[in-house]
Amino acid sequence: MSSIPRRSSVPVLIGAIRVGGDAPVVVQSMTNTDTADAEGTAQQIKSLARAGSELVRLTVNTAEAAEAVPRIRERLDQMGVGVPLIGDFHFNGHKLLREHPACAEALAKYRINPGNVGRGSKRDPQFAEMIETACRYAKPVRIGVNWGSLDQELLTRLMDENSASSQPLSAQQIMRNAVVLSALESARRAEALGMPHDRIILSAKVSGVQDLIAIYGELAGRCDYPLHLGLTEAGMGSKGIVASTAGIAVLLQRGIGDTIRVSLTPEPGGDRAQEVIVAQEILQTMGLRSFLPLVTACPGCGRTTSTVFQELAQRIQTHIRHRMPQWRREYTGVEDMTVAVMGCVVNGPGESKHANIGISLPGTGERPVAPVYEDGEKTVTLKGDHIAEEFQDLLEQYVVRKFTRKEAASESAVA
Ligand code: SF4
Repeated sequence: MSSIPRRSSVPVLIGAIRVGGDAPVVVQSMTNTDTADAEGTAQQIKSLARAGSELVRLTVNTAEAAEAVPRIRERLDQMGVGVPLIGDFHFNGHKLLREHPACAEALAKYRINPGNVGRGSKRDPQFAEMIETACRYAKPVRIGVNWGSLDQELLTRLMDENSASSQPLSAQQIMRNAVVLSALESARRAEALGMPHDRIILSAKVSGVQDLIAIYGELAGRCDYPLHLGLTEAGMGSKGIVASTAGIAVLLQRGIGDTIRVSLTPEPGGDRAQEVIVAQEILQTMGLRSFLPLVTACPGCGRTTSTVFQELAQRIQTHIRHRMPQWRREYTGVEDMTVAVMGCVVNGPGESKHANIGISLPGTGERPVAPVYEDGEKTVTLKGDHIAEEFQDLLEQYVVRKFTRKEAASESAVA
């Protein structure tokens, strides 16, 4: 759906999900449950997958967690949730994979952090053991560099070389170079150990937007591995969303990035699936993918002093998200529908006419009527105390009328 040219990359298959090449940018997420709690983790994965996460990563940090992984896979399969699972390993991944073959088998991909794979003389053999396990089980890997756990030996080497240089670079530039080099050198080492080129994905996460853009721009120019984008430690609430969106969107606009994860810190008791929703909204608002109908709503101003239109916009947004799993199963193309909920006559009718279906509510002092537009034409004017319910019904009727039912589409294809 987008005309943004994508950087070419060699696609990698993770379970049934293709990442890279001409595949759409894949949305992924990560659990925050204790992996050893198999039931709790399976339930959270189910909710992330239902929200639209196409891959889910979980930490595998202890023997108990590694033992739980095959049970989590089994439980998900029982619930009809086929989402591929990615194991996130640090420090002891080589040992856990060796001692828990069922875990190694149940995972669809291993994330390896080259900065946390082992220190000193242990680093290379432990990295090699993880790669050899991945090769034995025919699993792809993500070489996932993070500047918070950057390979210190590499960083020291680059800093020493820099201090001996006649034109030394800044400390920030050295850090960026070290992140890029750590990813590329680790991938080269993995291939030398037998990992096929088309089973490697790279990521290089940092917490600064400008660093992220510079590092991924460099990586994209130096390799054709698919790239996993994300800002690490993005933070909470609007700060996390804005920072992640700023970094990811600039890169996507340049055609860089094959899969994204938005690393939000949830509010206490908040819904982990929010990171999935934000990732989908980044891709959809950029015109890269469609997941669910977008609601266009004006910000409101002094012309609309009641909360009626805010409540309606929220109600419609919630209704669409709630109904979308069924609509997606039953109708073709409903994810491309646009809906407008506008606050007054200034931009309301115009914006509503641009949407598939829109409503222009009365602003302060206007006649208490709300014209509804479908495909650019005014179809009905709502008034009274049940405008929200009536508009929701009209939305339901619009979907039934305008989008082809999937059985009907497949029957006509057979005929
Ligand atoms: S459409 Fe009306 S209420 Fe909404 S922001 Fe514009 S002027 Fe204000």
